[in-house]
Amino acid sequence: VTGKTIDSVLHGCWVIPVEPASAVLADHAVVISGEHIHEIVDSATARARHPAAEHVALDSHVLIPGLINAHTHAAMTLLRGLADDIPLMEWLRRHIWPAEQRWISEEFVRDGTRHALAEMLKSGTTCFNDMYFYPEVTAHAALECGMRAVVGLILVDFPSPWAGSSDEYLEKGLALHDSMRGVPLAHTAFAPHAPYSVSDGPLQRVKVLADELDIPVHIHVHETHDEIARGIAEHGERPLERLRRLGLLSPSLVAAHMVHLQTHEIAACAEAGAHAVHCPESNLKLASGFAPVGKMLAAGIGVALGTDGAASNNDLDMLGEMRSAALLAKGVSQDASSVPAAQVLRMATLNGAQALGINDTTGSLEPGKSADIVAVDLSPAASQPVYHPLSQLVYTATREQVSDVWIAGRRLLHERRLTTLDEAEILTRSREWSQRIRSEDADS
Ligand SMILES: [Zn+2]
Repeated sequence: VTGKTIDSVLHGCWVIPVEPASAVLADHAVVISGEHIHEIVDSATARARHPAAEHVALDSHVLIPGLINAHTHAAMTLLRGLADDIPLMEWLRRHIWPAEQRWISEEFVRDGTRHALAEMLKSGTTCFNDMYFYPEVTAHAALECGMRAVVGLILVDFPSPWAGSSDEYLEKGLALHDSMRGVPLAHTAFAPHAPYSVSDGPLQRVKVLADELDIPVHIHVHETHDEIARGIAEHGERPLERLRRLGLLSPSLVAAHMVHLQTHEIAACAEAGAHAVHCPESNLKLASGFAPVGKMLAAGIGVALGTDGAASNNDLDMLGEMRSAALLAKGVSQDASSVPAAQVLRMATLNGAQALGINDTTGSLEPGKSADIVAVDLSPAASQPVYHPLSQLVYTATREQVSDVWIAGRRLLHERRLTTLDEAEILTRSREWSQRIRSEDADS
């Protein structure tokens, strides 16, 4: 009757579509046609309507939209654990920047990204918003394994092995954007690193180009007190004020961190329709502070969720990040109702898609959207009994309970096995890198 070929029907013990908000559908099925969600109906109806399709029984599972990691640096997975328990600037100057200067190459980015892809898929992430050098290599690695990616067109004032000047960064970024047009699963965003590492001229060009191409501007903003003090010293204004003056405070802005905000800055971001990406674990580990998530949400700012890179987290686990975000918000506000389970799942899915301008495609389980779906098994003892599946998902489930992942209808994780990546080979390459990098690190 539909005229569409139904390929598979995923029967969940529960389906949590995220839209409508807080809905939990017991004994429902997500029906997939090609790359898209065809319908979500109760399991009995789905069996009756689509007898010829492949039926996948996920009897003790909750089905959720694929998680969106809205701020990360995938290739930095190779630097995970290189240096821990030290402040941000010492961490960067003594360890991270020297390692990057010495080792960054196409090969480093490819191997690091592939490692990150394996970890992300195995923890239920179906889309990541990346910022790093050699973004065309990141894009290629993601597309090759079937992962959805928002590839950052990186821009910094200082030269790197990838580009020698602001003009060259932008030129290469634009070429990458052009080559990604119409490529399924590939999205782009401008990615000027931070207000302190990109000067006014290049930021103004980004503003003009982002308006013209209608893509987001992904940037670190107000991560630390030091960054703000430096902004005032160098430019006579707080970084967010500077971005506003340059015309970048707009619905295109995807501002990672947003830890230190004054009341009027929260109001200005809300009024401008800017988006924030909360990265609680990275902020905790680098002792950056506590982002005012409750206040941002209350003001109407779309707050997404990200892990930041594996070198400052130290994982790419969005389930863990959801739990950290929900718990931290309550502790900081001394309000147990702050950032409830449904809210944090929305941050990790639909809010991320909205920030990245891809909410017509992904971010919730709705007919017509891409079949980006994650199955989480709630049968382990630690998640039983189940009174409220949504709470159980956020407050008990660990990434090892992610059993299956579909992106655009393709099953990339099948009962915990990666179907498009060779995990053993990826880990061998990572070990080789760690031996090389360790031999030249300051404290080794
Ligand atoms: Zn970052």
